[in-house]
Amino acid sequence: MAKAMNSIQKVIIIGGGPAAILAALRLQRTNGISPVLYEIRQNVTTLGGAIGIPSNGLRLLNRLGLYEECVSKGALTPHIVLHGLNGSVLGEMDMADWSEQQTGFGYLRIRRTDIMDLLLRAAEKEHIPIHYGKTLTSIWERGDEVTVEFADGTTDTADFLLGCDGIHSSVRKLYIDPGAKPEYTGISNMYSLLPTHLLPIAIDPVANLNATLTPDGLFAVSPVTKTSDVLYWFFSREVAMPKSGDVRDGWETTQKAEVEGFRSTVLELLGEDKSDWVQTLRGLVQNTDSVKFYPIYKLPAGRTWHKGRCLIIGDAAHAMPPHASQGVSMALEDVFLFSKLLASSNMSLDQGLDAYVAKRKARTEAMLSKAEDNGSVRRRTPAWRVKAKEYAIWGGLWLFKTTGLGRMGMGQKDLTYDVESEEF
Ligand SMILES: Cc1cc2nc3c(=O)[nH]c(=O)nc-3n(C[C@H](O)[C@H](O)[C@H](O)COP(=O)(O)OP(=O)(O)OC[C@H]3O[C@@H](n4cnc5c(N)ncnc54)[C@H](O)[C@@H]3O)c2cc1C
Repeated sequence: MAKAMNSIQKVIIIGGGPAAILAALRLQRTNGISPVLYEIRQNVTTLGGAIGIPSNGLRLLNRLGLYEECVSKGALTPHIVLHGLNGSVLGEMDMADWSEQQTGFGYLRIRRTDIMDLLLRAAEKEHIPIHYGKTLTSIWERGDEVTVEFADGTTDTADFLLGCDGIHSSVRKLYIDPGAKPEYTGISNMYSLLPTHLLPIAIDPVANLNATLTPDGLFAVSPVTKTSDVLYWFFSREVAMPKSGDVRDGWETTQKAEVEGFRSTVLELLGEDKSDWVQTLRGLVQNTDSVKFYPIYKLPAGRTWHKGRCLIIGDAAHAMPPHASQGVSMALEDVFLFSKLLASSNMSLDQGLDAYVAKRKARTEAMLSKAEDNGSVRRRTPAWRVKAKEYAIWGGLWLFKTTGLGRMGMGQKDLTYDVESEEF
């Protein structure tokens, strides 16, 4: 007879990013399961800009005992300040005050490298093995076991396999759902992290996320460290798919052109305005030496997430644009729900995984749609319409403030969801 969900003792985890390490920590501590991680890169990646983690994710990080450390590294930025292209402040939007009142947790922005550092330290402290430089080549199941093989000829066998290997997941491509293809959203991001002490200009302290709409996309600046000594800026805009199609060579050419031209592109959009805010933005861009560029992809909804004794979670299952700041938080919710399934259920594997997927699909699809809605302000817009939008934003935010809609939690209800309230 096939093993029940709660008899799993060893899990192979493919990937070494946030979803993988969070899953390993939770399953080892709460379910007494031994995890073994296999990461494709030769070592820990130093790539990534900043990651937003709203109340729903912070609450779960707290349950893992990682919240205080995250807060000691990142910047709590509960508001968005919206600026006009003439430097005026159009208004301020609260992203987390209400959800913080409900949950006790606000909104954190943290460098990806900082959160990876602290996750890796936690894994090391708990003697969780992570093997680097492992390229997965095949997966097969026999009886109650699943086996993986890597390009170096090594294999490993366990009761269960978790694919936490990101948007281009090999677990998905090789085994679970080879037909699911990431789709380009039409929006690309460029970003830079700037330590303020290296800037040759004085910058007034920046608190919160400061966003400026331009005819060619959204330009935003935020602190990403507790002391605000590192600023993160990103420019999110429509970039056409390379003429050669969705292929690496084409994207490399686009990336080169975008990176080489970033300074003139952004400075031209900021125009000649002499206000303090626009001067600050100009100063940041003029003093940025290197930027990173990446096209934003998403996975189509409604695909398969499990097969046999294998499940994909995190970006491998439901990668979405970063515009709702839910990448890490969705991975955390996946991990906590899967752990709960293993702890509380004696369902068969198929029944248990179907029940898990049923609960996660609606939630992740709602977040995907929120992220896509938030992406619309990044689309190219005629200058007159940007001006009209500025007036609409100013009026909307004024109304929001004076009618107390913010106090009713508008736009934040999703952030108070506690995945552990789900029952199997
Ligand atoms: C390099 C990088 C930079 C990022 N930067 C940002 C950012 O600036 N802002 C933001 O909001 N989000 C960023 N993200 C996405 C964000 O990390 C995720 O949305 C979120 O953390 C969910 O994490 P995940 O572990 O599911 O996926 P990911 O963070 O993508 O992690 C997947 C991990 O699996 C590894 N992997 C991939 N393929 C294989 C394979 N075949 N075998 C084994 N391992 C494999 C990857 O190297 C990576 O370590 C970035 C992701 C990556 C990989």
